[in-house]
Amino acid sequence: MNTLEVISPLTGSLLGNIAVADAPAVDAAVQRAAEAFQTWGLTPVKERVQPLFRFKQLVEKNLRELSELVTAENGKTVEESEAGIRKGLEVVEFAAAIPMIARGGKLEVSRGVDCYSRSYPLGVVAGITPFNFPAMVPLWMFPIAIATGNTFLLKPSEQVPLTPVRLGELLLEAGLPEHVFQVVQGDRGTVEALLDHPGIAAAAFVGSTNVARQVYARGIAAGKRMLCLGGAKNHLIVVPDAEPEITAKNVVSSATGCAGQRCMAASVLITVGNCDAVMRAIEAEMRAVVPGKNLGAIISGAAKARIEGFIDRAEAAGARIAVDGRGTVVQGREGGFYVGPTLIEGLDVGNECACDEIFGPVLTVLHVDTLEEALAIENANPYGNAASIYTSSGATARYFEERASAGMIGVNIGVPVPREPFAFGGWNESKFGIGDITGEDGIRFWTKEKKITQKWTASASQNWMS
Ligand code: NAD
Repeated sequence: MNTLEVISPLTGSLLGNIAVADAPAVDAAVQRAAEAFQTWGLTPVKERVQPLFRFKQLVEKNLRELSELVTAENGKTVEESEAGIRKGLEVVEFAAAIPMIARGGKLEVSRGVDCYSRSYPLGVVAGITPFNFPAMVPLWMFPIAIATGNTFLLKPSEQVPLTPVRLGELLLEAGLPEHVFQVVQGDRGTVEALLDHPGIAAAAFVGSTNVARQVYARGIAAGKRMLCLGGAKNHLIVVPDAEPEITAKNVVSSATGCAGQRCMAASVLITVGNCDAVMRAIEAEMRAVVPGKNLGAIISGAAKARIEGFIDRAEAAGARIAVDGRGTVVQGREGGFYVGPTLIEGLDVGNECACDEIFGPVLTVLHVDTLEEALAIENANPYGNAASIYTSSGATARYFEERASAGMIGVNIGVPVPREPFAFGGWNESKFGIGDITGEDGIRFWTKEKKITQKWTASASQNWMS
């Protein structure tokens, strides 16, 4: 059996190995899930959500241990790991409330004729997740999928396979029946085996855009319901009436939080007109970030080299590297993969640093004269996850909100992740498929509806539809 090494980004040392599930192993997991579905799918929803209440308590009880595990395999700071888990727990809360919010509807549609709807689980479903949020992104998926009666196979990133296993243990401890949730470890081949398996009814994916596009097409071709969230290139726009200090802190924490490895991270900063005070404050704020303390590691040596390649090429193209994070070494963690905060100025709008997802703590600054020019740059980018504006004018904020081409908009907030029950999901090439991954769209994605029309009346009279 094929195995893969799990390397800690903090130190570069080996954390463990995973056995890669091949097609027969995927098939065995699907069979177990299908068997579990026979009972779970028929369990009343009020009973199905009970383990989720206990699961939330268990995650909270073990929060420190789980956060440290996320940090060990992902490299972000423990505080960031904890924040991600807490955000994921909001979806558990939402899923546990499904009996209260998804009651279906009933209407007397004609005299003595009632129409009502019932929702049903799809069956065995799958989730495929990225490295950057080992707990939170799986938590966007399985609580709602399970609460709605499906049995779930999670294929986590092979770079962070340990946290999901721990989540599975806590689900069992919370009383979830065996095989309602399973972790299937592996890489591309495992994903393809899941997508091709006829026993899987639907799959959600979160990862980079190129892979999202491929996974979406393959799953759809195999007749599955698919929702695939992709990469991002998020624009933050600063106008001259923005408050410099608040803006600087917020912009820098958006660009450097989780070492920039967030699909909601600031990647391009567009200043409109004279924003010198904000730029000075941003530069100072970036210099105050300390790698290894309030800046985590990059996921791998290859990812670090890729990010530094962007900075090298920007410099070669004539950019000013105002803050340079290349060659960062953290004392005591010399084998770790760190890139310090990086601020790049003076590039053309079409430079790769202003267009492509870098996925590191790198902020590219563009200067324009009008908000229209800034919006044109934001609109032209193919991604559409998040976009934010910093201003003290409500009218400017509203103007921006209406014209930005992204699914999640921030006003004076650099990471505009909607809190549940507002759902998570971008636009354009940041998403393939319909609807968002959490909130009520999550319920719709993991279920199918049956409409029942019935007539219980003593009268034999008929009309055109009954
Ligand atoms: P990735 O696309 O490399 O991997 C994601 C998952 O797909 C992993 O489980 C991986 O094993 C699998 N995979 C990789 N290549 C595959 C292939 N060719 N065919 C089938 N499966 C494949 O992404 P990553 O590097 O783990 O995560 C970072 C990316 O995820 C970034 O682009 C980031 O923007 C994106 N992301 C998006 C969101 C969002 O909500 N839109 C959230 C988090 C991360």
